[in-house]
Amino acid sequence: MKKRHQVVIVGGGPVGVALAVELGLRGIDCALVEQRREPQRIPKGQNLTQRSVEHFYFWGIAEELRAARLLPPSYPMSGIVAYRDLNNEYWYAPPLREIVNSYYFQENERLPQYQAEYVLRARMAQLANVEARFGWVAETINQDSGGVEIAIAEADSGTRDILHADYAIGCDGSHSITCKQIGIERGGADFDQLMVLALFRSRELHEKLKRFPPRSTYRVIHPELHGYWQFFGRVDVGESWFFHSPVPANTTRDNYNFHGLLQKAAGFSFACEFDYVGFWDLRIAVAETYQVGRVFIAGDAAHSHPPYGAYGLNNGLDDVVNLGWKLAAKLKGWGNDGLLATYSQERRPIFKETAEDFIEAGIRRDREFLQRYSPERDRAEFERAWREHANSAAPRVLTYEPHYEGSPLVYGPPHGVSGASGAHTFKARAGHHLPPQRLTSGRNVFEELGKDFALFAFDSEGATAAAFAQAAEALRVPLKIVRDSYEDGRKRYEAKFILVRPDRYVAWTGNDPPADTAAILGRAVACL
Ligand SMILES: Cc1cc2nc3c(=O)[nH]c(=O)nc-3n(C[C@H](O)[C@H](O)[C@H](O)COP(=O)(O)OP(=O)(O)OC[C@H]3O[C@@H](n4cnc5c(N)ncnc54)[C@H](O)[C@@H]3O)c2cc1C
Repeated sequence: MKKRHQVVIVGGGPVGVALAVELGLRGIDCALVEQRREPQRIPKGQNLTQRSVEHFYFWGIAEELRAARLLPPSYPMSGIVAYRDLNNEYWYAPPLREIVNSYYFQENERLPQYQAEYVLRARMAQLANVEARFGWVAETINQDSGGVEIAIAEADSGTRDILHADYAIGCDGSHSITCKQIGIERGGADFDQLMVLALFRSRELHEKLKRFPPRSTYRVIHPELHGYWQFFGRVDVGESWFFHSPVPANTTRDNYNFHGLLQKAAGFSFACEFDYVGFWDLRIAVAETYQVGRVFIAGDAAHSHPPYGAYGLNNGLDDVVNLGWKLAAKLKGWGNDGLLATYSQERRPIFKETAEDFIEAGIRRDREFLQRYSPERDRAEFERAWREHANSAAPRVLTYEPHYEGSPLVYGPPHGVSGASGAHTFKARAGHHLPPQRLTSGRNVFEELGKDFALFAFDSEGATAAAFAQAAEALRVPLKIVRDSYEDGRKRYEAKFILVRPDRYVAWTGNDPPADTAAILGRAVACL
């Protein structure tokens, strides 16, 4: 009889492979189907948040990720913002994601996406319960109440096969066939703007940018570009670059002077050699739901947008860890369909708000600034507004804090709504990422977390921990209990009891022994 997998993952870009690792480490039998044999060597998805690097830590490959970095150690990951071109007198170097490092267990990182993909692929290869089919294309996906059937074909040989599984997840990018096959619509803002992405080498550009402090990226905003960016990013220090910019609608590889475009954005001439030129349409697309029956979508298949602010891959990796534990819980018998339904309920509002309040709002803000202020019209007024523009960067980093306050699984505030806007704090809050903190042992709380639920019980006499252990046993929910004193930095949690989900989000906090521990744990796994 034909082998049946628990999960088939369609698409093995960074999100699909990360999901295979997440599920594989949870003991789930998976197959992954990816049409490319090697990752595409385009250095997109470079800017990884602290939370993304935490995921690599729990996959056991944070060190490998850091070692795969192409920038020298400690080379600044943030950038320069310049008015009109990189030769202009108006520029600033805003602080970026590093300003929230202390609220996470891992610092942010910067490396080409393909480097991170090699690290993920190597980890996946160590997992005997993951069957990787590189060079295979998924052609059709069908489901019924009993399972999912995916027809696949090997690209080189044309050999065909059918995969059977309990669940399928489409991680097949912004042109997802999974969405088309299972009928998921994607809506969002179409800016009707063609963008070019170029990879090139130029030592001269590196030399000429030495007037700035060392930085990894250079963003140009120009009155003619209506809030869209021209963006130079370092792939390494010294030679390799990527660049994206709006271009006229009918631009092709052959009818446009890309070297001229680069030099105009730089504001000076320099020699370069192109390695790649490609195009994409500037649009935001968010799927109406991330689940239909036994089929889920994650990563760019669920949400895609222009690379403004580095939200794409990071959001995709958060999809992975949100879905991973829920799917494993269901397949291991302690999660139900209600728990699976919360994947879409929790993740979709985050991306929607990211798209609207951070990406679209950012484009609008730049557009209004450029329309309203000009050094030619009123220099003093422009300089005041330019300073404000510079000062608005840090608050945006501080307030980008995706949370699940409105989730039915967490004991969030009354009328809480899940979203991307929040605040960074060391207080433990239901629905939010757990901030790191040191235990009396010297270990960080994150070093005590594993793949299961965890209860931190500070200054607890033991009865509450025992009640949670009993509730967990009754619900068959794997739970680790960590007891310690309520001293030192742990007081910053402002809670003596903290229930943490397997994705390192807080489900519940309390200061007094709760009356009904079974209800708290039951709600956290949708069993109420
Ligand atoms: C210039 C640029 C810069 C960016 N910078 C950042 C950044 O700094 N930070 C960030 O977070 N994000 C960034 N992004 C976004 C990021 O690259 C994407 O969000 C990320 O690639 C999404 O990963 P994914 O695995 O969901 O999709 P993809 O990377 O698109 O992978 C999908 C995979 O599915 C495979 N596939 C598709 N259909 C099939 C099929 N039928 N059968 C088999 N396989 C199939 C494809 O071959 C592909 O490998 C950037 C993007 C660009 C273009």
